[in-house]
Amino acid sequence: MNTENKGNKTEVRSQPSALFYITDKGLMLAKKLKELFPNSQMVKFKSEAVSEVWSECKNLIFIMAAGIVVRTIAPLIKGKRTDPAVVVLDEKGEYAISLLGGHLGGANKIAKEIADFLGGRAVITTASDVNNLPAIDLWARENNLVVENWDLLPKIGTLLLNKGFLKVYADIGIKLTDKLQKTDNPETADILITNKNNLFAHTPIHLYLRPKNLIIGIGCNSGTSADEIEDAVKSILAENNLSFLSVYSIATIDKKSSEPGLIAFTEKYGFKVKTFTSDELNNVKGVVKSEAAFKATGAKAVAEPAALLASGAKKLLVPKQRIGNVTIAIALKGSNELQVTSNKLKNKGSSLVTRHSSLYIVGTGPGSIEHITPYAQNAIRNSDVIVGYGTYLELIQELIKDKEVVSTGMTQEIDRCKRAVELAMSGKTVSIISGGDPGIYAMAGLVFEILKNSNELQVTSNKSVESRESKNSSLVTRHSSLIDVEVIPGISALNACAARLGAPLMHDFACISLSNRLTSWDLIEKRLEAATTADFVIVLYNPKSMGRQGHINKARDIILRYRTPETPVGIVKSAMRENEKIIITNLKDMLDHDIDMQSTVIIGNSQTFLWEGWMITPRGYANKKQ
Ligand code: SAH
Repeated sequence: MNTENKGNKTEVRSQPSALFYITDKGLMLAKKLKELFPNSQMVKFKSEAVSEVWSECKNLIFIMAAGIVVRTIAPLIKGKRTDPAVVVLDEKGEYAISLLGGHLGGANKIAKEIADFLGGRAVITTASDVNNLPAIDLWARENNLVVENWDLLPKIGTLLLNKGFLKVYADIGIKLTDKLQKTDNPETADILITNKNNLFAHTPIHLYLRPKNLIIGIGCNSGTSADEIEDAVKSILAENNLSFLSVYSIATIDKKSSEPGLIAFTEKYGFKVKTFTSDELNNVKGVVKSEAAFKATGAKAVAEPAALLASGAKKLLVPKQRIGNVTIAIALKGSNELQVTSNKLKNKGSSLVTRHSSLYIVGTGPGSIEHITPYAQNAIRNSDVIVGYGTYLELIQELIKDKEVVSTGMTQEIDRCKRAVELAMSGKTVSIISGGDPGIYAMAGLVFEILKNSNELQVTSNKSVESRESKNSSLVTRHSSLIDVEVIPGISALNACAARLGAPLMHDFACISLSNRLTSWDLIEKRLEAATTADFVIVLYNPKSMGRQGHINKARDIILRYRTPETPVGIVKSAMRENEKIIITNLKDMLDHDIDMQSTVIIGNSQTFLWEGWMITPRGYANKKQ
């Protein structure tokens, strides 16, 4: 997990900063550091000067003995949520000590950047960094989660250090990492990510992280005070077992945008406010007309349609309720998702929760666990169910031994994919496994076809494309109306086999599968011929099986029409598995070797050569005039 603040480097350093020095040498170093902190003032050290800038500067850098700094700042320290970052440097700039505000203040990050800049060393003492573990407070902030019970943070941090991982229950779609393991049982979780006020009757021993996902629609009479509005919002949230910390924004009619009580309430908590015209509100279907609202504002209703419009939800989480002068309705942000009632929560008398289930289409590489990316390993660990084909599952046995496994035969891909989609729709997090890369002769395409064709699913593909484009390109999870789908790449046979052979794919290459189970043999021949005549290096997948002994012979015949019998050929069987076999031969002799369904065959182009047991296709550097 990345424990660093995602905000980019310059952002933290361009905040107001102060560089304190005592000696001339210190002043010289401060001048140098000014380049790194463009928005900084250099200040000759005096303790009063420190108190003056304490609350206005984000970063305080001291070039002096740490003892002086500790004595000076001691009376100013309030808490890690508000204190600035404090970094201490020796005069030579050899050490940058992160003294205070290591995580939330950003001092660890700044100390590292200063050390990089001066060629010195950063001194970091926060336990999570030393042990390379995630800092939960930082992780929460990066994921827009609000920590509710800060007092539990040190305990949770220690637990993480001792156990090496934490169990997390989340009723929203959120990506976890290997140190934060998902559980479906809130009782066994260390961290609960939910907008539900309390998941248990007893006192919380869990760390609650609140997603900001509630949109509060508000209608109120003119002159209603801020206190009355605040009380109404809080009591309706409490009645519905929802956390005030999960409030994302307020929605209302434009006519109320200058209502003093409403303004004071939203400013007090820094809530965003979204307003709509009466026409916009009246266009929302299925809203019950209120005569009083209509008379006063021209809108048939305010709270409900405003909450729906601002959230994009189709349904309200809490229909309107009136307390005194205030009407309130609540919707979930961005929730045109499936709303299901979790059984575990239903038993506890809670109302609806949003469950965004996930389907990971995971590539597990050529065979061994080390060749599965850490990201894919995490997806597998965080899944409830693993769906796959027997052989591939055996290869990753270690990773999946305590999971529910649905295994099918090799040719039952359609069943496998359907089953995976059904399981994901039932609310489980599912990984469907492919060997190699899931997008190369594997499951990814089929899953999408099934999603596309499935009547029940009605994937809102236009919407997902929109949302993907409007955000940044690193957004890998696509939201359908019901499930999140993510394709997780793996090392394909072509990468693994090429690596074993040397560098045969350095120039343009074509992959052709010799399996005619889903492609006609005619078309395969056509492609073989085209690739050969265009002098592509050719990678042959599925070269031979029980039912297709002759295909590799025919393929070789076609290629031999255009390439010399000496053209290098590499055959790799079971790359990166226990019984791996690497053969380097040529077109003339290739059929003397064992080629089976666990093999990939790579045929060189006219330039490919052999050198000391390696197969190499030149890129052309030798011909390039320097
Ligand atoms: N999705 C897989 C390919 C599946 S098709 C991938 O990206 O690698 C199955 C074919 O892949 C096999 O017939 C063989 O040609 C090739 N293959 C898969 N794993 C292999 C391995 N470890 N070594 C050599 N070839 C392999």
